[in-house]
Amino acid sequence: MKNSEENPKLIDHHVHTIYCGHAEGTLEDYVASAGEAGLGGVGFCDHLPFLAFEDRSLAMCWEELPRYVDEVLRLAGKEKSPAVKLGIEADYFPGQEETLYAIFRNFPFDYVYGSIHFIEGWGFDDSRNVEKYEGLDVNDFYRKYYNLVVEMAVTGLFDVWAHPDLPKKFRYRPDNQPVELVEAALEAIAANGMALEVNTGGLRKPVGEVYPEPWILEIANRAGVPICFGSDAHKPEYVGAAFVEAVKLVRSSGYESHVTFKGRRPVELELPT
Ligand SMILES: [Zn+2]
Ligand SMILES: [Zn+2]
Repeated sequence: MKNSEENPKLIDHHVHTIYCGHAEGTLEDYVASAGEAGLGGVGFCDHLPFLAFEDRSLAMCWEELPRYVDEVLRLAGKEKSPAVKLGIEADYFPGQEETLYAIFRNFPFDYVYGSIHFIEGWGFDDSRNVEKYEGLDVNDFYRKYYNLVVEMAVTGLFDVWAHPDLPKKFRYRPDNQPVELVEAALEAIAANGMALEVNTGGLRKPVGEVYPEPWILEIANRAGVPICFGSDAHKPEYVGAAFVEAVKLVRSSGYESHVTFKGRRPVELELPT
């Protein structure tokens, strides 16, 4: 689907699998697609089950987690190019820190994504729940979201802030750009050694933009927050999607490097020219 010279050193850290109940294709299909896209690596980052409830349309169940890990590790041992990495996308819910800590220690993850998909029990990025946007106080919604990001960062449990400005997904915007909220979030992200995900999945959503937008990347760069790339592919064909555009975007926001992860430590890489 893509010119194999396009993405020589890039790694797609955000690829889902059939385990989560809303993605298609085998793990091998995603690795093959990463190879076709010319990526240096592909990281599986499927949804961790929820602690408080089970929803098989949103995440794997607990019995499947060891199988997911084993299957990714088997591919990681087999594939030299593209390199295969083991990640997990975990929702942050206040009060679950200790349980998450124990889970993350139990598996040899290369990295752990921290995501906020829920505010006060509302899955705000789920297209099945959009009616709740009618009459919503959007300014308050953004404030709650970014405050939760600060809480998530200070737990020290996560390596990457996933799809940073996800509240824009359905094009609901606050009256003013939430600069102070974003600055506070990025300060907490920086202080806790986390990276920011540049997620091209937003291009395929109603908002039609990369997460996050350029002004957020500029603040992140000034705050010394590293970035990593992710497509949020739920189909093999989207692995590495729009990464050329994403590289242009981060370069114009002042970035000259990106990171990948090994054993939960960031590894800095130069951006392709
Ligand atoms: Zn998903
Ligand atoms: Zn997500």
